[in-house]
Amino acid sequence: MPVEIMNGHDHSVSSQSLFAFGIAMILHGIIDGLLIGVFKEVEEITLLAITVIIHRIPEGYTVGLTFYKQEKNLLANKGHLVFFILYVLSSPVAIIVGASVQNSGGLTIVIV
Ligand SMILES: [Zn+2]
Repeated sequence: MPVEIMNGHDHSVSSQSLFAFGIAMILHGIIDGLLIGVFKEVEEITLLAITVIIHRIPEGYTVGLTFYKQEKNLLANKGHLVFFILYVLSSPVAIIVGASVQNSGGLTIVIV
């Protein structure tokens, strides 16, 4: 249940806070992906991937709710749309980057 319905207060954040939150979540997604990418053993990768996927459920809910409080129509704001796309892509792209670095012996400097 959304927080504002539970206690009757509006908890919308400033756009600066929302921007900082968005950047933090994208960086977090990159770290999640890099972690999965750098492991070589299938068992390790599977366990990590399951852990990441499970914690993404409450995390995604929190991210969605935080943006929803700011703007009821989640996809109306172009900036928010760009954030959602970057957030969704952060981990998969980081997995590929991490795996590439790992496969090249971990010595390659990746320029993003
Ligand atoms: Zn996470």
